[in-house]
Amino acid sequence: MHLIFDHDGVIDNSFKFHVRKFCEFSGKDISLDDFRAAFMWNIFTAEFLKDVDWEWYHNFIFLEQSQRSISPEIKDELKRLNEKATLSICSSWEEKNIEALLKHNEIDDMFTRVLGRESGSSKVEKLQRLSTSSQDWFITDTVGDILEWKEAWVLTLWIEGWYHEKIALKKANPTKLVASFQDIYEAIFS
Ligand SMILES: [Mg+2]
Repeated sequence: MHLIFDHDGVIDNSFKFHVRKFCEFSGKDISLDDFRAAFMWNIFTAEFLKDVDWEWYHNFIFLEQSQRSISPEIKDELKRLNEKATLSICSSWEEKNIEALLKHNEIDDMFTRVLGRESGSSKVEKLQRLSTSSQDWFITDTVGDILEWKEAWVLTLWIEGWYHEKIALKKANPTKLVASFQDIYEAIFS
């Protein structure tokens, strides 16, 4: 079995970090709600993000992002999940940033592949490349991701104050919805 993780909002609680860095980078005053709304569908189609040079943005945030800490609880849980399944990451953000962050947190060995922005803007295409069976799970936290990926099971992680609200996630109808990273194991393996 393959567990394919979204990165932001699942492995890293990066919502406020990205809003702050994006405002610094663009000189625009983007509200938390505007940024949240961009994740209701594929992030690259959001109107106010259309002319962003994403490579520049990710270079701009590289040092700070790659030094972020993943919580010990999430690391322990990933270890437990990795004993049962192959793990990889499918993200819209930069592979090199994510890989550096995983390395900094000494969890890079757990993931067989990381497909990010460099591998294409469509999460569906990247998920198709990563997924090898109908038993696989895509573990994500935003409405756009749930709506885009209809071909296998989707487990959605809802954590208060991170990206999307529970009510919006429920409406998008994921296979399962859990409220903490620690609930993923039981939701999938019991
Ligand atoms: Mg996410």
